Amino acid sequence: MCGIAAFFKRDNAAFSVVESLFAEQHRGQDSAGLVSTDGTRLYSHFGLGLVKDTFKEEILQNLKGERAIGHVRYPTQGRVSLSNCQPHIFSFNGEDIFAVASNGDLTNLPELSEEILQEGLKLEGENDAEVIAKFLGLYTTKKKFSIVDAIYLFMEKAMGAYSAVLLTKNELFAFRDPWAFRPMCYGMKENFVSIASESVALDILRIPYYGEIEAGTIYRWNDSGLKIFERKTVKPIKHCIFEHIYFSRPDSIVFNEKVFEVRKKIGCFLAEKDKVVADCVIAVPDSSNYIGLGYAEKRGIPFVLGLVRNHYVGRTFIAPDQITRDEGVRFKFNPLPSFFVGKKIILVDDSIVRGTTIKKLIRMLKENGATEIHLRIGSPPIRHSCFYGVDTPNKEKLIASKMEVEEIRQFIGADTLNYLSIEDLRKCVSTPEDYCYACFNGDYPAGEKKHPSLVS
Ligand code: SF4
Repeated sequence: MCGIAAFFKRDNAAFSVVESLFAEQHRGQDSAGLVSTDGTRLYSHFGLGLVKDTFKEEILQNLKGERAIGHVRYPTQGRVSLSNCQPHIFSFNGEDIFAVASNGDLTNLPELSEEILQEGLKLEGENDAEVIAKFLGLYTTKKKFSIVDAIYLFMEKAMGAYSAVLLTKNELFAFRDPWAFRPMCYGMKENFVSIASESVALDILRIPYYGEIEAGTIYRWNDSGLKIFERKTVKPIKHCIFEHIYFSRPDSIVFNEKVFEVRKKIGCFLAEKDKVVADCVIAVPDSSNYIGLGYAEKRGIPFVLGLVRNHYVGRTFIAPDQITRDEGVRFKFNPLPSFFVGKKIILVDDSIVRGTTIKKLIRMLKENGATEIHLRIGSPPIRHSCFYGVDTPNKEKLIASKMEVEEIRQFIGADTLNYLSIEDLRKCVSTPEDYCYACFNGDYPAGEKKHPSLVS
């Protein structure tokens, strides 16, 4: 999961890209990068860490031009390093030709890399955007393809997820894998265009939302305006259902659905057949708030913001190593003083990955006086790894891949535990057949990743 932003024909485009990346910071906190152009050359800046720390005003002043693309990274493939920051710049004969930023993971990276290496190009990092950039660079320079034809060929050969933008000195391209795993949308205002992973990045700048970058389709903006090249490689649409459950901001429109509404429906379906008696519903903030609200409204039980989250600790789930993850849990949530004493609680969370975070939370609430904790999970058990851009751990570290629900309940210390079923999850979106559910059912629409990644 990463975040992308792009602007075309916007004065000081780099400033606007950074504002959009701020809105998408939840999609990646490990590095940020930006490439801009004024038509004469590409300007770039990269940094490890948050957008606000990477792009100070004096740096942005040097990122000239009215076209720019940017990226926030959350590593699923490759180390946290400057060489793996995006956008990736492709240079040929000493000249920077274009830059690429992508969100998603390719499952056949070794085959694509092999082709690039055999043609004499080098790979410096270990991330998918570099492979995309080098592949397109190989075909546009050595083999004299147009950029559009090179992207079409890439779409034919590549397996997996990529929502990508490509910036040359004169043109901006946006293209998305034929399954459309990861979100990407665009908006237009006055003379300029803005592209973002999530609509919230358009919303905060009051840019009207036009719609999604369609699956397998290439969008090109230049001085003549927008041209859309229709898709040639056709696959079944398979959006990531987890964008609705957890990743995307609730104020975004993703895959043409309002995320907060999907989350409220998830809560309603969790509540539908539940008979457990409790004093209140508490959601694990922030991603579970709307699921908890939907549950509480459906059952007529008070919804209480009983856990306070420290927003200056990163999202537990996307911390890249176990030490950070463990520290994050302890510092991240705090219960309201004395509130839990003697209370029966319905605790709502979006998902359970390893089970370690929720186990600590339940222990903390019981230490604070809660007499019963009934845990309700807004997704089915995660039994399989994701190969399309999400840092779920290796399968053997997923608690639901090795334990049944009752064993999980005992391990985490809940009094009762219910998960949402896949059938009910499917009812929460308008076009359920257009979604990937592979982390629940192991049915991978674009193959499995065989190459090692840093995910452990
Ligand atoms: S495997 Fe799960 S997390 Fe990965 S794309 Fe499919 S639904 Fe999303």
